Amino acid sequence: METKTLEKQKTGMYENVMKQFNHAADVMGLDDNIRKILSATNNEIVVHFPVKLDNGKVEIFTGYRVQHNNALGPYKGGLRFHPTVDIDAARALAIWMTWKSALAGLPYGGGKGGIQIDPKNYSQSELERITRRFTYALGDNIGPDLDIPAPDVNTNAQIMAWISDTYVSTKSPANRQTNLHVVTGKPVGSGGLEGRDRATGFGVVATIKSWVKLNNIDLKGKTYIVQGFGNVGYWASHFMQKEGAKLIAVQDASGSIINSKGIDPDLLNEHCRQNKGAVAGFSQAGILNNADFFATECDIIIPAALGNQITVENAPSIKAQLIAEGANGPTTVEAEEILLEKGIKIIPDILCNSGGVIGSYYEWLQNKRSENWKIEDVLIMIEDKISAAFNKVLQSSEQFKTDWRISAYIVALQRIELTYIERGVFP
Ligand code: NAD
Repeated sequence: METKTLEKQKTGMYENVMKQFNHAADVMGLDDNIRKILSATNNEIVVHFPVKLDNGKVEIFTGYRVQHNNALGPYKGGLRFHPTVDIDAARALAIWMTWKSALAGLPYGGGKGGIQIDPKNYSQSELERITRRFTYALGDNIGPDLDIPAPDVNTNAQIMAWISDTYVSTKSPANRQTNLHVVTGKPVGSGGLEGRDRATGFGVVATIKSWVKLNNIDLKGKTYIVQGFGNVGYWASHFMQKEGAKLIAVQDASGSIINSKGIDPDLLNEHCRQNKGAVAGFSQAGILNNADFFATECDIIIPAALGNQITVENAPSIKAQLIAEGANGPTTVEAEEILLEKGIKIIPDILCNSGGVIGSYYEWLQNKRSENWKIEDVLIMIEDKISAAFNKVLQSSEQFKTDWRISAYIVALQRIELTYIERGVFP
């Protein structure tokens, strides 16, 4: 990836989340002391650790874990393996997690982290050693009742299994069973939840269905485009297909493809599986210029890749009626102003992609109770929780006469504010 593109994705995420927070705090009149507390992150852990590569040479890696706030419960949030991971990105993403957990009504705070690497440059066994050594370096800063990581960009169930195994192997054997659950998003055979793999994409579509219901329209035949065809992008497309919507363009790190007659998400997923995750080269679609992607004529856009993708440069050309933010922070504050001015609705990230953390919460509960839940039940529970959050956002939006992002923030902040008011500030 070009350095210029990397810089664009990196810079501004922290500024973005703080602008959104301060705007919401102003609209709702958030208590000044609580604003101060929530403006800071509780802990910022940066670790440098050596790993021996396959060629025998040692490389030093840098990993991050930012713990923003735990007023409502343990820190919760993903680990990302990507060149754009740095302290500012981890801060921004951790802060978004605090709001997301609060909005969904979960007993969690917010954390996020990762390693600044491009996993494509490493073999599977190198990735395993990097993951295990990172877990070891984090030590007691994570834990099943302290801070519970989960998958994010370029991390998956396999990586969660390595983290879980490393964590238990370096702790007292007495707590083995509890310690295994230091992460969510584990493979099902290792305590993972049936359906956690698809929880985020499923939740994205559940929020789109709430929007459809609100507007009394039909999702059948509606066209949509997806940026990022990894976990979130694929599963969202899979569930959109079930609702009869038509995928017409996809963009990922390898390029952009288009077919106005429709792209079958499952066939595209199979193509990706055989082509190192890349959509480029899919035989049933043509090539689209990357710069023209967001301007594609369609009803719905699902950004499901990185932050800062919808900007002042491409927002004016967007023709969709709805943007459903599968990704975290895909829209800059300035771009959002343009979109709202054009009457485009945005289902904000902290609501739209919260199916992932809701699924993680059910995995955590399932583990605590030593149970195994059925996928059908899990998906119903996720839909119920996310629909309830959607309705709260609508009510708050009417009460405060504001857009959905700011009203989602208000619902989240009101919950945290109440906790601080009730408990006070130690000592
Ligand atoms: P993933 O690693 O499975 O997929 C990422 C996708 O983004 C890939 O298709 C990749 O090619 C694409 N991408 C990377 N750089 C790009 C670029 N410059 N332009 C276009 N596409 C690019 O990651 P994921 O888990 O699907 O996460 C995607 C987004 O969803 C992230 O913002 C993540 O924080 C958010 N999210 C994920 C979860 C989850 O449960 N996995 C939960 C909530 C939010």
